[in-house]
Amino acid sequence: MGRTIKCDVVIAGGGLSGCLVALALQARHPSLDVRLVEQGERLGGNHLWSFFEQDLDPAGLALVAPLISHGWDGYEVRFPTRSRELGSAYRSVRSDQLDHHVRAMLPPNAILTGAHIVELGPRHVETRDGTRFEARSAIDARGAGELGHLDLGWQKFVGQEFTVAGGHGRSRPVIMDANIPQIDGYRFVYTLPFTSDTILVEDTYYADDPVLDHALLAGRIADYADRHGWHRRTVVRQEAGVLPVALGGNFDGYWRSTGQGVPKVGVRAGLFHPTTSYSLPDAVRIALLIADRRDFSATTLHDALYGEARQRWRERRFYRLLDRMMFRAAEPDARFRIMARFYGLDATLIERFYAARSTGWDKARILMGRPPVSIWRALGQLLERKKGQF
Ligand SMILES: Cc1cc2nc3c(=O)[nH]c(=O)nc-3n(C[C@H](O)[C@H](O)[C@H](O)COP(=O)(O)OP(=O)(O)OC[C@H]3O[C@@H](n4cnc5c(N)ncnc54)[C@H](O)[C@@H]3O)c2cc1C
Repeated sequence: MGRTIKCDVVIAGGGLSGCLVALALQARHPSLDVRLVEQGERLGGNHLWSFFEQDLDPAGLALVAPLISHGWDGYEVRFPTRSRELGSAYRSVRSDQLDHHVRAMLPPNAILTGAHIVELGPRHVETRDGTRFEARSAIDARGAGELGHLDLGWQKFVGQEFTVAGGHGRSRPVIMDANIPQIDGYRFVYTLPFTSDTILVEDTYYADDPVLDHALLAGRIADYADRHGWHRRTVVRQEAGVLPVALGGNFDGYWRSTGQGVPKVGVRAGLFHPTTSYSLPDAVRIALLIADRRDFSATTLHDALYGEARQRWRERRFYRLLDRMMFRAAEPDARFRIMARFYGLDATLIERFYAARSTGWDKARILMGRPPVSIWRALGQLLERKKGQF
């Protein structure tokens, strides 16, 4: 028999969204007994999360400000047909800083790492060693649920952080450099210059399948680095991701796939931008929404989170339509033209797109003109709405 710990709220999964909920609750309700249970030894794993500052409101920015490791006042995109500099502030959070900050802010007994959860319900969590947490509510923040309920494309990448002897010569992020061979869908290289001689280089694909060949992509990163004269380099960190790009799907099926009546946050709640797969802005907003509450009973918390996530899923159908246009109406090697055209639009429209706050006029503007896709296949995607999906 393991031990039983009684508390107010237990958060399952100490990744991005679980940590943000814990931080927001600690700040707003310091007397609440909150426990954060994570299978890894470190909170947040090995990640770098980036976001545009305008995606967050002042309260959200205040929550993440202590986590920000790097920041830039603008970024670039590069396509064969156009290059552009944009003035939006871009910020990055390193997982080691998240781990450090959460440990500094929460009481030591609030964090349990190296604890694999084997059982979870609306009011309890149980770990492999038999420790049972009983709470007013358990919040599931363990990452993706059953993705089979969603119609998906994939954003996949391998990233390497290098030090480059003599410096790399870049001062701002290039979040899309598509001046490279278009292979396996829409391909671009994403670079973040952290210091004058440290840079992250990610080889990224908007692809139909989730298969990731690490060695192949590492070779392509090396080609890109060589082409830019970064010959004397040392890899200091690597990361890889296969992230869902939502084309459609059954939101309710997805929600139910990880348990009825369980409050959920993060990707587990379907809260990510359908096109970019970014989830940080949603995770921040939801953490503050939870912290604003006084009632932490599982039923009311579940209903609030389910209502919120479902509402966002509904509101974001436009982005799923665009994703279908990219994945179903454009030939894979022509997908980059959609992005090149998009980056010719007004800078504030682009900002609202990333924040998933496009206006009706933005949407019309994005669809207007001559999109670089087959008009018949595009019409097919406009009309597609399968039963039970939205
Ligand atoms: C490499 C990579 C880079 C990304 N970059 C960005 C970015 O720049 N900006 C952005 O907004 N989004 C980014 N994303 C997408 C998304 O924001 C992240 O996946 C984000 O971490 C999702 O947050 P989450 O809290 O839902 O899940 P996670 O952060 O994955 O957290 C889930 C946690 O639950 C734990 N867990 C799972 N199962 C159990 C269990 N049984 N018992 C105990 N613990 C468990 C995991 O160990 C993990 O720590 C990136 C994703 C990846 C993979």
